[in-house]
Amino acid sequence: MTYTILARKYRPQKLSELAGQEQVVVTLDNAIKLNRIAHAYLFAGPRGTGKTTTARILAKSLNCVKGPTVEPCERCDNCKEIRDSVSLDVIEIDGASNNSVDDIRNLRESVKFASASGKYKVYIIDEVHMLSESAFNALLKTLEEPPSHVIFIFATTEPNEIPPTVLSRCQRFNFKRIHLPIIVDRVREIARAEKMDLSEEAAYLLAQRAEGSLRDVLSLLDQVVAFGGEKITNELVLKTLGLVNQEVFFTLTEHIFKKNGQAVISLFNQILDEGADVSEFVNSLNLHFRNLLLAKLGLASEQILELPQVYVERYQKASGQFDERDLLRMLKIVQELGSTIKNADPKISTEMALLRLVTLEETVKIEELLSRIKETNPSSGEIQLSRTTASRPMEEKESGSAKAFQPSEIKHGTAYAVKAESGDIQSGWQLVLEKLKKEKPSLSSFLQDVQLAAFDEKELHLEFAGDRAFQKQLVEKRENLSYLQKIAEEILGSPYKIKLAVNSTKASPAGPASTKQAKPDLEELKQKDPLLKDILDTFQGEVI
Ligand SMILES: [Zn+2]
Repeated sequence: MTYTILARKYRPQKLSELAGQEQVVVTLDNAIKLNRIAHAYLFAGPRGTGKTTTARILAKSLNCVKGPTVEPCERCDNCKEIRDSVSLDVIEIDGASNNSVDDIRNLRESVKFASASGKYKVYIIDEVHMLSESAFNALLKTLEEPPSHVIFIFATTEPNEIPPTVLSRCQRFNFKRIHLPIIVDRVREIARAEKMDLSEEAAYLLAQRAEGSLRDVLSLLDQVVAFGGEKITNELVLKTLGLVNQEVFFTLTEHIFKKNGQAVISLFNQILDEGADVSEFVNSLNLHFRNLLLAKLGLASEQILELPQVYVERYQKASGQFDERDLLRMLKIVQELGSTIKNADPKISTEMALLRLVTLEETVKIEELLSRIKETNPSSGEIQLSRTTASRPMEEKESGSAKAFQPSEIKHGTAYAVKAESGDIQSGWQLVLEKLKKEKPSLSSFLQDVQLAAFDEKELHLEFAGDRAFQKQLVEKRENLSYLQKIAEEILGSPYKIKLAVNSTKASPAGPASTKQAKPDLEELKQKDPLLKDILDTFQGEVI
């Protein structure tokens, strides 16, 4: 017996066997049960998602001697002929090669004749968007008054290229790209049925390469088996399809993190020596940095990364050593590389981009350095408010309060756990303080020695030393806090909620009050800043 390709052998034969298209299945199932059959259907969606397969199943459901039925018998002549693609009542036309007005005129002639043995004559036109404009016009005439025994099923990957006059006469079904886990399950199921030994990693790799197409995953499986036999390992798939092992990218990331440019370049050359294609490498590198970034942001899952759980965990671990902003920059570099290699020497361009990745963190450090330089050159004076007797009870109350911010409250489990060393927000926060010094020196002075203890995408946690509870009270005043949040938003680029807390275990490095600054004139400052006047008056403050 001749070998039947897997995609044909395992082609679904009834609606309930269609994988990953629940909505289409439910709607067609109901239509068949209620005998509400339209005269023209449009099946739109990416390639390999089951459009023509569904069209054939629909034809069989309608023309089975027991039809219309959702369970065609598979035994009657009509069922058998449709399954073997020899039915005279099911006419499949490739729109790409039969797209002229003459082709459609022939079709219009043939629809006049009654069906041979089935109830309906079903015309399946694949890639219908390829028809010429005049062909569409000719088709439209038939669609306007279709003979009762004729059903059109149009399949297309480009529904937008079909004239609205035709679209409006069709019942439309959208076929979705099939999710990876469904493809993985299906390919493993078929491998089992075929008594093949398919590893989980290999199944994922094949499914990934199939890009949402069940037909493609089975063609790839055929290809791999033809090359290396029925024991299908990850290595065999990589070798057959000329892909770069995922492992290599983790090693590469490690070298990049350690700034080992030499190791990065020699690894890249080794990969090329082993026969990998540069553009394939760049695609995979792109995907790798995307995965790292998603993992860093806490968004990694089997479904989103399209990888088995073991890799999801590896990405979570590997991303831990990078800052998310650095990862975003790296991803940008790799994405640019994708277009650069089309016009320039791919190997040299890739090496240059890899070296940029290795040296990237230096740029972050220079930025931090700049902000530190600015920090050491305060451009305006500041005042320090000393605590008065009236404030002491408040301070004690705060120190003993259960509400006091404890480091353990920081969300350690999330991707945004404490990152005191983390570049951009930390240096951005210094700029916030700079701006505050210029615009509201009083408020700025209350924030002296305050630490940005933790932050995530929504909140900044400021920590006051144990002896600075009073300053916290002042900053907490609504006008002050909203002013601070406004400046933080301007500089950091997104709205942060600012949370204040006192760490009672820590004393401020400068002691209870700083005496470093020259003493400014209190009345003058009060005039300049009405809010300060209000605060000083309310709390009987004094400048020291
Ligand atoms: Zn039948």
